[in-house]
Amino acid sequence: MSTTQTHPKAYADLLQHHRDASLLSSTASLLGWDQEVMMPPNGLAHRSNQLAQLAQLIHERSTDPRIADWLSACEADESLTADPRSDAAVNLREWRRDYDRATKLPAELVVELSQTTSRAKAEWAEARKADDYARFAPWLDQIIGLSKRQAECYGWPEEGEPWDALADGYEAGMTAAYVAGVFTPLREKLVVLVDRLMGSSTPPSNAFNELKLPIAQQEAFVRRVSAAVGFDYRSGRLDTSSHPFCSGTHHADIRLTTRFAEDNVNDALGSTLHETGHGLYEQGLPAEHLGTPRGSSVGLSIHESQSRLWENQVGRSRAFWTWCHPILVEHFGDAVAGLSADAVYAAANRVSPSLIRVEADEATYNLHIMIRFELERALLKGDLTAADLPSAWNEKYRDYLGVDVPSDAQGCLQDIHWSMGALGYFPTYTLGNLYSAQFFEAAAAELGNLPAMFAQGEFAPLLDWLRKNIHAPGNTYDSADLCEKVTGHPLTADPLLRHLEEKLLPIYGL
Ligand code: ZN
Repeated sequence: MSTTQTHPKAYADLLQHHRDASLLSSTASLLGWDQEVMMPPNGLAHRSNQLAQLAQLIHERSTDPRIADWLSACEADESLTADPRSDAAVNLREWRRDYDRATKLPAELVVELSQTTSRAKAEWAEARKADDYARFAPWLDQIIGLSKRQAECYGWPEEGEPWDALADGYEAGMTAAYVAGVFTPLREKLVVLVDRLMGSSTPPSNAFNELKLPIAQQEAFVRRVSAAVGFDYRSGRLDTSSHPFCSGTHHADIRLTTRFAEDNVNDALGSTLHETGHGLYEQGLPAEHLGTPRGSSVGLSIHESQSRLWENQVGRSRAFWTWCHPILVEHFGDAVAGLSADAVYAAANRVSPSLIRVEADEATYNLHIMIRFELERALLKGDLTAADLPSAWNEKYRDYLGVDVPSDAQGCLQDIHWSMGALGYFPTYTLGNLYSAQFFEAAAAELGNLPAMFAQGEFAPLLDWLRKNIHAPGNTYDSADLCEKVTGHPLTADPLLRHLEEKLLPIYGL
């Protein structure tokens, strides 16, 4: 069939095929949003059937053998591939990548993985509830075994390791050696920084984080802040769910969720700004390329860089609170009257080494991620067995965070990721933090006095910069290339360390 096709026709076929698949994926994503936000509990069985049918259709499309013919025809056509950054070349590169990954696993392994992880997830939930690691250990053992087989099917670069093959699914080209090269100096310096902060005799007051504030008022407050930084509510919504997320079904229909607790407005604001950052990225993707890689986000870590940038670089800055403090007072009145802008700013930046990743502060969060990265790498290399995981976990928490882990439920059973077979995922969180700091430094160097702008509520110059440099290119560059192109340097830990030290040491009177 391919021999009779002219190349532009093959490219048009690929375009149509993937745009149709993207419509199906965005429909599944909307049903997923509805399940978390709106669906009545009894709707679950029917929803599972709907989602399973869509997943089946999407899988059939993404492994359609005609793709191989179309791709070969296009890849041989220099008019499409001569410039590797052209729209067509970018699309072909990513379609090839996706097709190869989707077709490299034998069907029986796909089935075994899906059956094992779906049971392992349930066993993990029970084991965590009962604080019974022994119940989960054999399942983790099986998942490690299947993950190794999966990695062998995908393959990894020379001098690489199995972890690389799995991580590549979340972040193209991410390898353990690359991650370790960036993480190790960060870890060494973070441990020292956290130690210094904890030795301070003048830590900031926690009063702001303990205020009891009505949820309806919190909702109005976070909505106003997210709109002020640039989220377009004509092309998006904000709702609540137990785990905040951003579901990008289409650039003109972005669904954000956040969560509220009466005594934690700081968490509601942080979660909202975080998801707003994801949403701003999705709203900023080039509309004319939607449904193709050229119009898609780069990968998990660049997505996370956008959420962390608005949550931390902006939302935890002194200048942000200069602008936001009067708005806080306007929304909550007497309840916050006793707190100065300085007090709120300091409380929003409190550091406290703890057991649970999802509750960690900006400084210690990355240490939680490094522990998981080092352990999953060892599990996949065969240097660590599932049975020995709890003791290795607890030892690292003592070493890096100085905390004793009282139970596996609060230790190695706290995250769902490994039970789902998601090995190689965790580092994207910290890479996102690192990219956010490096991008922010580059933006500040180009735009001038960002704090003066934030203090006036002017966030548009920063958003425009992100639109132009990060959002508009879609998936033209991989993360490492995008970082070099935008900041002039490869990714390093220095900008994040500078950001944390320059902000936190004064807050702690150091
Ligand atoms: Zn995120």
